[in-house]
Amino acid sequence: MLLDMFTDEFSAAQGWLFEHVVEPVVFNIGLGGYVEDAFDATGWLLVGLIQIAVLVAVIGPLQRWRPVDPVTDRAAIRTDILYTLVHRLGLFRLVMFFALQPFFDGVVGPMRTAGWAGWQLDAAWPGVTDIPWVSFLMYLVVLDFVDYWVHRGQHGFHWWWSLHALHHSQRQMTMWSDNRNHLLDDVLRDAIIVLVAQLIGVAPGQFIALVAITQLSESLQHANLRLSFGTLGERLWISPRFHRLHHSIGIGHESQAPQPSKPAPLGGHNFGVLLPWWDMLFRTANFENRYDPTGIRDQVEPDAKGRVRDYGRGFWSQQWLGLMRLAGRA
Ligand SMILES: [Zn+2]
Ligand SMILES: [Zn+2]
Repeated sequence: MLLDMFTDEFSAAQGWLFEHVVEPVVFNIGLGGYVEDAFDATGWLLVGLIQIAVLVAVIGPLQRWRPVDPVTDRAAIRTDILYTLVHRLGLFRLVMFFALQPFFDGVVGPMRTAGWAGWQLDAAWPGVTDIPWVSFLMYLVVLDFVDYWVHRGQHGFHWWWSLHALHHSQRQMTMWSDNRNHLLDDVLRDAIIVLVAQLIGVAPGQFIALVAITQLSESLQHANLRLSFGTLGERLWISPRFHRLHHSIGIGHESQAPQPSKPAPLGGHNFGVLLPWWDMLFRTANFENRYDPTGIRDQVEPDAKGRVRDYGRGFWSQQWLGLMRLAGRA
């Protein structure tokens, strides 16, 4: 009932935004042939605008109410805001669309026309799993499970960690830090999630809603906010406390420099994205109520030559240094 009401309101707002803003722009720059894709993109843009409104109006005041760290580095926060805008307002998605659409047209298209339609997970138990909210929850759990293993991969392979380290190099964590990632890392993770979603039959509208909830929850988890959900709540949904521990120097993740010749142990805690269950199941959960400094050990502890690692300050230097780490040159 409430879900239907929200869906109606959302569609109306999407129609308005498309008609008055997006459609004129699309025609003006000569991309009229993409008008249907532009309508879908408007849905994502609207989700992003709602998210940013929630960040500013709700999560921001929470951060000022119970901060963990004093704000000492506003420039570092501004870089994270840039990451958030690039992602949530659709710039990243737009580039992905034009870069990956030929691939999908060339590979997935022929598979579809050949009669391959993937699985429909919601058809598993007719009358139950095809109830909209049941299928929604089912897809949420499945995709969250995939996300957990993607994140384990980001910490488990040295080459992948060399990219993911950028996410962990923020020492001044805030609600803007979720999208602070290497773009190559984003492409990999998104490609895996989109592929799995298509394989198990997530409908486009459901997919947008799942991504919207995931992103909003992730923004909250990264907030500079002293907040735990209590003994039971902590085991139902991931809190700012839970995810901050994953970012903590020493206990959240291991942070040795990637050395192909001598692999350092990569471990850590709290890899989950929405549900803490996978961490509980695979024994990586840590429910200690503590708030340690965040970052990576090699940022604060000099190596044998007395140097600490530089992960970059601005967007481009962070992206560049990520590629250099991947190539073993930084
Ligand atoms: Zn991580
Ligand atoms: Zn994080």
